[in-house]
Amino acid sequence: MGKVLVFGHKNPDTDSITSSLVIANLERKLGNNDVEACRLGNVNKETEYVLNYLKLEAPTLINDVEDGTEVILVDHNSPEETVSNINNAKILKIVDHHRLCGLVTDTPLYFRAEPVGCTGTIMYKLYKENGIEIDKKIATLMVSAIISDTLLFKSPTCTELDKKVGIELSRIAEIDLEKYGMEMLKAGTDLSSFSIDEILNLDAKETLLKSVKTVINQVNTASIPEVMKMKDDLERGMNKIINEKGLDLFVLLITDIVNSNSQVIALGKNADLVEKSYGVKLEDNTALLKGVVSRKKQVIPIMTENA
Ligand code: MG
Ligand code: MG
Ligand code: MG
Repeated sequence: MGKVLVFGHKNPDTDSITSSLVIANLERKLGNNDVEACRLGNVNKETEYVLNYLKLEAPTLINDVEDGTEVILVDHNSPEETVSNINNAKILKIVDHHRLCGLVTDTPLYFRAEPVGCTGTIMYKLYKENGIEIDKKIATLMVSAIISDTLLFKSPTCTELDKKVGIELSRIAEIDLEKYGMEMLKAGTDLSSFSIDEILNLDAKETLLKSVKTVINQVNTASIPEVMKMKDDLERGMNKIINEKGLDLFVLLITDIVNSNSQVIALGKNADLVEKSYGVKLEDNTALLKGVVSRKKQVIPIMTENA
């Protein structure tokens, strides 16, 4: 048997990258030495900040897995978000905080899903349950994921447990939550080195809202007007992707991490679904969605209901 490969979802975010590293570490502590943290895409700027802070290498980049490979999935469980050969791999474990949406396995597996804001929070519990000490590095990885997924505890996805665990981990990590957290989140808003196509792919999720074929992409910023300067180019890129993928709707959320709002740009024949879902009028394809920061809690379910 080859190595067990651990990975999070495509277009990896901080939770996907850090949880791969963290669970690989836990597996080793539990005696499973043949485990390798991997990733299914480029490391974003926010995660890069975390890895640089800890002087850690990014997990190994893989595009797919060979038949029979043993894998552990973190921060996802959907077929669309994982390797394409997942049905011929052997899933040993899944640790996740998303809804179930379609993976089927041939054999029993360890499956741990909790409705919390971040995989990092579940990882913390796994260390505790196994009596494994959390060192400074591991604590920093976990708390970074919690800061990222909960936008520093401000997202409606954030539970009391995420907050409690985040504060506890920040002590072990010896970081100032507010200072480190804002620096980390702000690092993730630097779009200067990306092309329009890259920006439109950084955190894109393809999903069906009932029968409406949709891509929802989220870009964090500290200044909505700064990102809106690129609106014409973004729309050109969005229309190109709509044509290529045969989408009914492309939703771009430009999320202000300081004030907790999102400016939405919506294109495609079902763009009115945004108007219907939020009671807003799109002007020039765009509107401000006050208080909306979570794709998982405030976008996908609400738009599905209205589709
Ligand atoms: Mg994620
Ligand atoms: Mg996550
Ligand atoms: Mg995310």
